[in-house]
Amino acid sequence: MMTLRFKSYELQMNHEFTIAGGSRSTTPVMLTEIAYGNTIGYGEASMPPYLGENHITAVAFLSKVDLSLFDSPFLMEDILQYVDQIAPGNYAAKASVDIALHDLAGKLIGQPWYKIWGLNPKRTPNTSFTIGMDNPEVVKAKVAEASRFNILKVKLGKGNDRDMISAVRSVTDKPLCVDVNQGWTDRQEALDMVFWLKEQGVVFIEQPMSKTAFADTAWLTQRSPLPVIADEAFQTVADLEKVNGVYSGINVKLMKCGGMRAAYTIMQIARAMGMKIMIGCMTETSCAVTAAAQLSPLADWADLDGNLLIGNDLFSGIRITDGKVMLPETPGIGIRPL
Ligand code: MG
Repeated sequence: MMTLRFKSYELQMNHEFTIAGGSRSTTPVMLTEIAYGNTIGYGEASMPPYLGENHITAVAFLSKVDLSLFDSPFLMEDILQYVDQIAPGNYAAKASVDIALHDLAGKLIGQPWYKIWGLNPKRTPNTSFTIGMDNPEVVKAKVAEASRFNILKVKLGKGNDRDMISAVRSVTDKPLCVDVNQGWTDRQEALDMVFWLKEQGVVFIEQPMSKTAFADTAWLTQRSPLPVIADEAFQTVADLEKVNGVYSGINVKLMKCGGMRAAYTIMQIARAMGMKIMIGCMTETSCAVTAAAQLSPLADWADLDGNLLIGNDLFSGIRITDGKVMLPETPGIGIRPL
């Protein structure tokens, strides 16, 4: 019989994290476990405030999940459909069950998920390391801390874009990507900035304008010399149709879409639609980040640094070697409790 357990936890961030939407220094998460015989699968829900979930909503949702209705963890389609229909939304809470179930099933099979899916671990992308907004001296120090990464993700959109990029460029010539977090409001100014950013060695732009600004974003994407990626504008598989043609690609995150199974489906469909694919994460322990890493051979770019931004991780798993995602051989999602 499968038993679901869960508890609240608070991630402590190494640096206060500032994006166009605000600042914070902690992130609430739920840690889940599915026990089956002597095997335990681990999962996690990370709940940054802007997605609307928190400890209270997650406890309420997870309290309704009754896995005793199922006699085998391999009934993943049935179990996850059941979990999905318990209530709308609650994607992070749903992801925490999905991840724990994948960890459990993978451990019972004795293989990591990238092998079960038949993905080539040599195809994992470089992962970016995020440089949050700060004054130029702190930005330079953060770039120095990121020396083992081959691509840096710079947060823009608060009116100091050129200063941020110039500070980064004063200390490194590595490729950059930028995340504007919906911060730009004028499409012509946005386009001018994109051309300038291309000259600065930026390779793609994430969420330049409001998630609801479809017409302006489509206008920008058509003229942009760089791929434009949807993050806040894209959540679940149902959103693929509305972002296709408006953005060049999508940022897939387990916490937005409900877990590994949904993310795998999204990535297959997006690829068939000809979209670029990024696999990202929230501030998370190595549990959810390593689960996302299992899918990274399907992505063009990875942004899997969430576990590196916290001081109180509870698991070992994903490693970064020479800037590239390295998938552990560990069965399941590839983690061990510390
Ligand atoms: Mg983003």
